Amino acid sequence: MTTNYSMEDLVSLCKRRGFIFPASEIYGGINGFWDYGPLGTELKNNLRDAWWHDMVHCPPMGPDGEPLSIVGIDSSIIQNPKVWEASGHVGGFNDPMVDCRETKSRYRADHLEVIANANGEGRMYAFIEGNEESEERARKLLAKYEKVDALGDEYTTSLLTDIPTDAFERIVGPDTKEAGTLTEPRQFSLMFDTTVGATGGEDNKAYLRPETAQGIFLNFMNVVDTMRVKVPFGIAQIGKAFRNEVTPRNFIFRSREFEQMEIEWFCHEDEAQQWYEFWCDYRKDWWQKIGLTTENLQMRQHDSDELAHYAKEGCGTFDIEYKFPFTDPGYGELEGVAHRGNYDLSRHTEFSGKKINYFDQQKNERYTPHVIEPSAGLSRGTLALLCEAYTPDDRPSKVFMKFNPRIAPIKAAIFPLVNKNGMPEIATKLHEEMRKKHVVQYDAKQSIGKRYARMDEAGTPYCFVIDGDTLEDNTITVRDRDTASQERINIDQAVAYLDDKLIQ
Ligand code: ATP
Repeated sequence: MTTNYSMEDLVSLCKRRGFIFPASEIYGGINGFWDYGPLGTELKNNLRDAWWHDMVHCPPMGPDGEPLSIVGIDSSIIQNPKVWEASGHVGGFNDPMVDCRETKSRYRADHLEVIANANGEGRMYAFIEGNEESEERARKLLAKYEKVDALGDEYTTSLLTDIPTDAFERIVGPDTKEAGTLTEPRQFSLMFDTTVGATGGEDNKAYLRPETAQGIFLNFMNVVDTMRVKVPFGIAQIGKAFRNEVTPRNFIFRSREFEQMEIEWFCHEDEAQQWYEFWCDYRKDWWQKIGLTTENLQMRQHDSDELAHYAKEGCGTFDIEYKFPFTDPGYGELEGVAHRGNYDLSRHTEFSGKKINYFDQQKNERYTPHVIEPSAGLSRGTLALLCEAYTPDDRPSKVFMKFNPRIAPIKAAIFPLVNKNGMPEIATKLHEEMRKKHVVQYDAKQSIGKRYARMDEAGTPYCFVIDGDTLEDNTITVRDRDTASQERINIDQAVAYLDDKLIQ
């Protein structure tokens, strides 16, 4: 383990300082839903805007040294339900689930393991994969009731999905002491449905989108016909997605309503592999650029049995993973870069009966482009930035949030040392000037130490202090969040100083 703080510490700071709150908190909350407070909203918007700027307004250079061409769209959350049949989500977007009849707990079948006596006899004990506490409980019960040496090699572990269902009556669930309470795995749709129009009924059933990607495929021809784009090019979209996750957990890591930032990169089949490699490298570098450190990031190729229904055979999916405190020493998915082949455009052609393809005038060739999809979580990305920033320290606040200045919710704070002697007037003037360009905060309350501590917890990179000397010589103090060191600059240079520090 390298994380030197717990998730509870981070969740508590997020609540205390107005980053993230449980949704519907006064009614006891609602599992899997979260609200962003003032600082969390700024942070998330900064991540969103950085992505949009770097992908759409100022996209990277491609392998040929030319800037990529990427345009943005904003499609509807609710679409014609046929979209989800074509995409494979209706019918396909299911996780096998196991319920415990006694405790009413519900588990993903592929997340449960079972520990048993090596001779296969007696009771077996299920535990949640990767959850040390749950595994230890199962081991102890096996040792106690089956008299198995849990430290020796008398026992075996297997995936629940590999156990024949007629042996389920011998399995003790992860949260119960009785055997035989787990149901057989059943499919569970992750899509939220709703009814469109007043009449209701099955015919008017529609779905909240489980990913933003399909809205892009639906608009492929609209974009080609209106934007003079030439393959290869990309369409980007940021927006909400909804999944009725069976076990929402780990704060905003797995929630039921979240935001995605997706690019569908359309290219010729012959160039797809080259673009796939380009996007894997570029997207990992991008996360580093906005502040995630190399030690905490890794790329992982999906195992073949994990591949989504659309992933192109032989090319697969790379996950960009981050070492979250709750996965440490392991990693959790932050973004997936998938080679979708021409699955989606072909399926929409098939289901809609409309032609969706591209005509290359130079080569006089008509074809269905292949797609490379870098699909990132905006909510999960925000969590990764929060985790990365949390820095325990021996300063009075005991912690500071070391955000990259580009994504910090507040860029600078302006303090009059005391709320009199002409200092507030000078500080207010500086504040008025700075807020025209940056998100800055004015604070004249409490001791200077307390004000620094508040800004440290908010992750504000710079504090400008107007004091007695300012009245004499026009200089002010700038205090750096990370080192707590101070320097004096002329007040007339303060705006340029901040501009300079924020340009990366
Ligand atoms: P997981 O395996 O974690 O369920 P996934 O492989 O199903 O994720 P994708 O369908 O590839 O995820 O979605 C792309 C991105 O959307 C993920 O990398 C993640 O950042 C984000 N994401 C997916 N599901 C959730 C969720 N329930 N809560 C928050 N973010 C999510």
